[in-house]
Amino acid sequence: MSYENGYSLKITGDLGNIKSLHCQKCETSTLDGKFCKECGTKLEKTTVPIKETDVMLEFCKTKHVDSLLNEDGSTNQLGSGNYIESDLLKFSKKYPKALFILDIVWEDDFCSLPSRHFFQNGKRQCGGATIVFEEFDKNKLK
Ligand SMILES: [Zn+2]
Repeated sequence: MSYENGYSLKITGDLGNIKSLHCQKCETSTLDGKFCKECGTKLEKTTVPIKETDVMLEFCKTKHVDSLLNEDGSTNQLGSGNYIESDLLKFSKKYPKALFILDIVWEDDFCSLPSRHFFQNGKRQCGGATIVFEEFDKNKLK
């Protein structure tokens, strides 16, 4: 039996900085070279914050994830996702201060159960959704 689960991922928190080379004239950044490819100006070393979208793209390219997530972290295809959690455990060590939030909608024969998993620096916290029942309200009786 194969399970068809829906996965979605959010990335928040401090992803750290990346070294970059900046051309002041063109306002462009690159990762290598000494001079700007456009104008020939000497590039200046700088650091820029790593973008969530870049990290999301990087994670989407890992082996087991490709078809499950869109490049913005939303659900692409349903799938068993057997390895997505172990992939995230490993991947989260690369960005130890960031928080990865994986939402899963489990499809089984009876119902859909959502759960949320937090990953940070190679560790995880798993939790189901809390169901809150409405209070009795006489005015809602029909
Ligand atoms: Zn330039």
